[in-house]
Amino acid sequence: MNENQSEEDASGHSGSTMKAQGKKDEDLQRQINQIKHKIVVLSGKGGVGKSTIAVNIAVSLALAGKRVGLLDIDFHGPSVPKLMGLEGQHLNIDGNLIIPSVYGPFLKVMSIGFMLQNQDDAVIWRGPLKMGAIKQFLSEVSWDSLDYLIVDSPPGTGDEPLSIMQVLGPQTKSVLVTTPQEVSLTDVRKSISFCRKLSSEVIGVIENMSGFVCPNCGETVNIFKTGGGEKMAREMGVRFLGRIPLDPMIVESGDSGKPYVDAFADSESAQIFMKIIQPILLLDK
Ligand code: ADP
Repeated sequence: MNENQSEEDASGHSGSTMKAQGKKDEDLQRQINQIKHKIVVLSGKGGVGKSTIAVNIAVSLALAGKRVGLLDIDFHGPSVPKLMGLEGQHLNIDGNLIIPSVYGPFLKVMSIGFMLQNQDDAVIWRGPLKMGAIKQFLSEVSWDSLDYLIVDSPPGTGDEPLSIMQVLGPQTKSVLVTTPQEVSLTDVRKSISFCRKLSSEVIGVIENMSGFVCPNCGETVNIFKTGGGEKMAREMGVRFLGRIPLDPMIVESGDSGKPYVDAFADSESAQIFMKIIQPILLLDK
């Protein structure tokens, strides 16, 4: 038995366990330091299009020539592999590091979805396990140096958003997604105060599913109302990034795994996405 193994600290940890933990923390910090801009996409409610927007922001940034990572920490409902047409992929290991999946030359993608034997498997984890997995997804994946890491977090202000903000540190910024109606706005206000409590700068709010242009008559129908996200952003003192309409092609592109901004680059909604990412691109000037 060597000196390290025989020595235990007050909490019962041996010297070698503490050394191993120290090395893990160093690896994690080294990886995080290689990422210039960390952005978590949050929503107060599920189903408002947060994952769709996280994917399309990541792809838009990659199309703009940035080196981008997209990390899906929605452990209970990972939809990023499906939305990006990467479903069913299994990841390779190089030395100690997991090789993330890739979309095009500039976008690396990591999700618990790549690790499930079966897409219908349920992940049943409590908080500490999720924290451990988030750290591993950062420290044991070969992200290399990135201009942006976009994180798709589950809705609300629970374990996952809290853990990722804590692990990535105070430079982490956030983008909030809401639909225009009051039930969603009430919850996104909570997300804004969550970000403020954690000193995470809110880059802005996106109002999704804002109006629907009828393909038959051309008339705009505000199914979930419109303008609520912008009004709320003004009241809360955060920037309003833009309004994305309800668009059947966004559903179609998500279901067929072809990110909208790439598949329909010339469409009006894709142009809106490109406008929305301008303040994010400015961070890298
Ligand atoms: P969340 O991550 O908030 O749960 P998703 O991104 O999974 O939401 O989106 C939920 C559903 O809504 C998906 O089928 C997606 O294609 C669809 N969706 C998202 N945004 C739009 C939009 N602007 N127009 C039409 N459908 C949309």
